[in-house]
Amino acid sequence: MHRFYDKIEAVTERQHITGKSRAELIDFVMGIGEPKYRADQIFRGLHERRLRSFDEMTDLPKVLRDKLTETATPSVLSIESRYVSVDGTRRFLMKTLDNFPVEAVFIPTEGRDTICFSSQSGCPLKCDFCLTAKLGLLRNLTAGEIVEQIIAVLNDVYGVGGETPHGTNLVAMGAGEPFLNFDDLLNALEIMSDKHGLFIVPNRVTVSTAGIVPKILDFAKLERRPNLAISLSSPTDELRDKLMPINRRWNIDALMRAAKEYEKTLKRGERFTFEYVLLGGINDSVEQAASLAALLKKYELKRVKVNLIAHNPAEGLDYQPPAAEQVKLFKATLESRGVSAYVRIPRGRDIYAACGQLAAKHEPNLVKIQNA
Ligand code: SF4
Repeated sequence: MHRFYDKIEAVTERQHITGKSRAELIDFVMGIGEPKYRADQIFRGLHERRLRSFDEMTDLPKVLRDKLTETATPSVLSIESRYVSVDGTRRFLMKTLDNFPVEAVFIPTEGRDTICFSSQSGCPLKCDFCLTAKLGLLRNLTAGEIVEQIIAVLNDVYGVGGETPHGTNLVAMGAGEPFLNFDDLLNALEIMSDKHGLFIVPNRVTVSTAGIVPKILDFAKLERRPNLAISLSSPTDELRDKLMPINRRWNIDALMRAAKEYEKTLKRGERFTFEYVLLGGINDSVEQAASLAALLKKYELKRVKVNLIAHNPAEGLDYQPPAAEQVKLFKATLESRGVSAYVRIPRGRDIYAACGQLAAKHEPNLVKIQNA
């Protein structure tokens, strides 16, 4: 145990440079007496070539590599285990240096790959249908820890620095409420959008919030920003108070007003999403679908689509998935009232990688194919 903490101390004295923007990296490089252009080489080494140690950056002189190793580190996450679903989805359970769990999920799709990443370790919100909620908030992740999840997943799937043939979409829908770690999230997205790095531009990224109203309003003011999804899951306050207790702080009226403000700032052709987790017998009736459509109409929300997500059952959660027929009816009811609705196909259910299932779960009966 003591040796572990010694290790944290030794490493945290070194700076985690994967979370530094280009400008911060220039400051850092100049601070250790090196010319500015070295920052470019290091940035490309970390983000474009996705190298995991300075020793591999052979375009840098050996003396500089040694100096970097003494003062900084490219990596603070370790992959503890990796589970592979029958549908190709991979769930990664990582650990921070101070031993907190971080989960990310790789979802291959025909057109493009999607990586679902976490913004917090655990989550402080208490959505009743979500396993992550059971962990509580462990801590916010740093920008570097957010970026490193993506690098670790891409390297695992395509090899270190390997080309990503399908391109990558990102969704901030893993553990945590992204808008409660707003600055680090935005810093991470800025770093990841650099064309000399991962080059994942904001319109390939979707951030999902449970409804942190002031941050939705801040988000609306951003010049370059990702797509937005708002998790709703109930058309009435009475039910939403129970399903998503954040509703007691900002109710549906406050949320819809913020959504309307956001809608006003959309560029031509852009839309945003409401996510609706369908819980069998709880929020999946035709009447509730009609009342959801009426709610969107009341607030004149027109540039929206609704993603319907059938609840993923898990031990410790009291809810059941909706009947397949009910999902169809719900969708048809929305569509008949002019609301675009899509049913999201659950991925990685068998490895606890599907929505709401991330809870740092170790399952002895899962196919665990790597221990780092
Ligand atoms: S659904 Fe999202 S916001 Fe709600 S508890 Fe789970 S991780 Fe947190």
